[in-house]
Order: sequence, then structure tokens, then C-alpha cells
Amino acid sequence: MAISTKIQGFMNQSSWIRKMFEEGDNLKKQYGQEDVFDFSLGNPNVEPPLRFKELLRQVVDDAIPNKHGYMPNAGHVQTREAVAACLSRRQGVSLSSNNIVMTCGAGGALNVILKTLVDQGDEVVIPTPFFVEYRFYVDNAGGSAKLVKTEEDFSLDLNAMGEAISEKTKVVLINSPNNPTGKVYDAKSIGELAALLREKSRIYGKIIYLVSDEPYNDIVYNGLCVPNILAVCDNSIIVSSYSKSLSVPGERIGYLAVNSTVQDAEAVIDGAILCNRILGFVNAPSLMQRVIAGLQDVHVDVEEYRRKRDLLCDGLASLGYRFNRPEGAFYLFARSPIDDDVAFVGELIRERIITVPGSGFAGPGYFRIAYCVEDKTIINAMEGFRRALKRHA
Ligand code: PLP
Repeated sequence: MAISTKIQGFMNQSSWIRKMFEEGDNLKKQYGQEDVFDFSLGNPNVEPPLRFKELLRQVVDDAIPNKHGYMPNAGHVQTREAVAACLSRRQGVSLSSNNIVMTCGAGGALNVILKTLVDQGDEVVIPTPFFVEYRFYVDNAGGSAKLVKTEEDFSLDLNAMGEAISEKTKVVLINSPNNPTGKVYDAKSIGELAALLREKSRIYGKIIYLVSDEPYNDIVYNGLCVPNILAVCDNSIIVSSYSKSLSVPGERIGYLAVNSTVQDAEAVIDGAILCNRILGFVNAPSLMQRVIAGLQDVHVDVEEYRRKRDLLCDGLASLGYRFNRPEGAFYLFARSPIDDDVAFVGELIRERIITVPGSGFAGPGYFRIAYCVEDKTIINAMEGFRRALKRHA
């Protein structure tokens, strides 16, 4: 075999989103773009804010010495200062540029922090359903993923988390607003999780870090607030990006923020800077760093996604689908009307509706609908959703 057995295995495991995306592409070639309802990918369809384009033009035109050159591996100081100031204000903590490492998206940040913290054989505890790439990121760092169930409404199951954490645990990795469920963990559960990590760290005589993956932090609905991780959890690290908040996932710009209260914070930050380099990222894209420095409180029009969420949820609810209305991000994780979510997703494909089986996120019995699509895709898919459900009435 040309490729390693391990990667072949990963390709088989991770193939659901890719498979569904390719399925959609084939159908589009056959039936045309308009007649295929593709909800497979979390590729934002809302335009980046105007200010993003203005600043990008300005940065391109500005005469900045060594504009396209290498820089400190942590990133431009002015950018890190801007990120630190914004996070400090939002989280109610005190961070400086030294707490921030600019990265190639949240994916880059996750790989960097996991490589920094995880030793061979360490476990990373992850609530399910979860963003599938985590499993591979953890493996990249030599660790193994320990998956933990959540409650019926996808909130954290603190008892299950408590049972999953052991002397092998190095990191607990959470994601809120969540992909694929749209769940936002509330302040009470985050407080309890922080207390649990303190207790377990004491029992096992080692630090258990909380890594909070928050690329959807700005995409929440009805005035909901995402709890401030850094304010309540000492050994915490936020990873995030502008991929979704500014609709620029192809530009690969994100960061990680190490809480000032992390024990040996300086060593963790120095380690992350080294990992940014040796993982081959070297540094986050220079132009993008300069652009986002001026866009700390700017984000896409979240109202657009709220409208799409309601359009989809109201439509599916009236047909009889069952789900928890997403509180953030742009995914709906709906219950499959039959136990076999893969089979039901197959039935939707026959209606030219492309979704992703929940099994692909360790959430069997569900399917994920990414609603970052045009309104007409949602509206025109309803008839197919109705027919597919009716077969199981
Ligand atoms: N984390 C979650 C939960 C995601 O859904 C994604 C992308 O969809 C990422 C991380 C990666 O984001 P980025 O494009 O910023 O690397």
C-alpha cells in the first residue's frame, strides 16, 4: 500500500463529511447546482464584513518594511496586543501580547497546543458528539482521545466527565458553541467543570488543562453569552479563529490564548511558539494578522444565521422532525427517524439533500445539517425532507 496503514485507517474513519461533499458534487454535475440541496460543509456563505475588505486593501497598499517577511513565531506584536486586549475585556481577565500565539486557524492552534502539552500515551477527554478532526489532532500529538457522552440535550454530563478523567488525562477538550450540535454550555456547567478539574488535578497530583475550542464564539443567538472560560478556570487555554466570525476560513488565521493563571504559563507559551514553528506552520499568515488586528470586535451579521436557523427549524419542526434548536454556530443536529442514521442520510440523498450522518461525529441516531447556505436551499429542500420522513411515519 502506498500510504501508511494508520492514515488509510484515518481516511476510512473520517470519510463521512468528505464522502457527503463528494456525493453532493456528483449530484450537482448530474442535476445542476440549483437542484441539489447541499448541507454537508460548514463553509460560511455569509459575506465577510465590508471592513475586512477595506482593511485588507489598506494593508496591501501600506508601505510596511519587511511586510511579507518572517516574523517572531508567535506573530506580530501589534496583532497579539489587539487580541489580548479584546480577550481581556471580554473574559474579565488580564492578558498581554505574551499570552497569545497567532496560528493558522483554530485547527492550527489545536495542533500546536496539543503537541505542546501531550506526552505519548496521555489521554485527551472529549465530550461527544464532537468535531471529528480532534481525534486526528490528538493522535498527531501522540495522545489518545477518550470520548465521553453528553446529556440528552448535549449539555456536559459532569458525572461522566468525572468518571472519564484519570491519572492518564492531560487535557479536557471542549467546544462551545458546538459543532455538530449547536449547543452552548452554560456558565453553571463550566463552573462545575472547572471545579472538577481542580479536584482531579489535586487527586492525581498533576495539572489537567482545559482547552476550549471557540471558533463559533461570536455566532450565538437571542442574546446568549458564551461563558468566560479564562475567568473561571485556572489552567485553561482558549483556541479560536476568525474563520467563522469573519467568514474567512480559507485565510487560515486564528490564535491560542494561554491564561495568565496557568501554572508555568511561560513554559506553555514558549512550548507553543516552538510547536507553531516545528509543525511547519512557522507563523500565521502575515497579511491576515495585520488585517484582523483592526477587526477585534467585528463579525459577520449573526442575524443572517439566526434567520436561517429559524427557517430551517420551523420548517423541519412542522414536518415532524425532532431536534434541539441550536443556540449557536450554524449546525442543526436532528434526530434520525430511524436508528440507522447512515441509512436515513442515504434516503435524503435520493431526495438530493446532502447531510452528514451523526455516526461521523460519534453521535449515532442523528444527522447534521450545516445551514450556512442560501435561504432558497433551505426552502426548496423542505419537500424532500417531508417525503423522506413520511416513509417512516
Ligand atoms: N473547531 C471546530 C469545532 C470546527 O468546527 C472547525 C472548523 O469547522 C475548526 C475547529 C477548525 O477551524 P479553522 O478553520 O479555524 O481551523
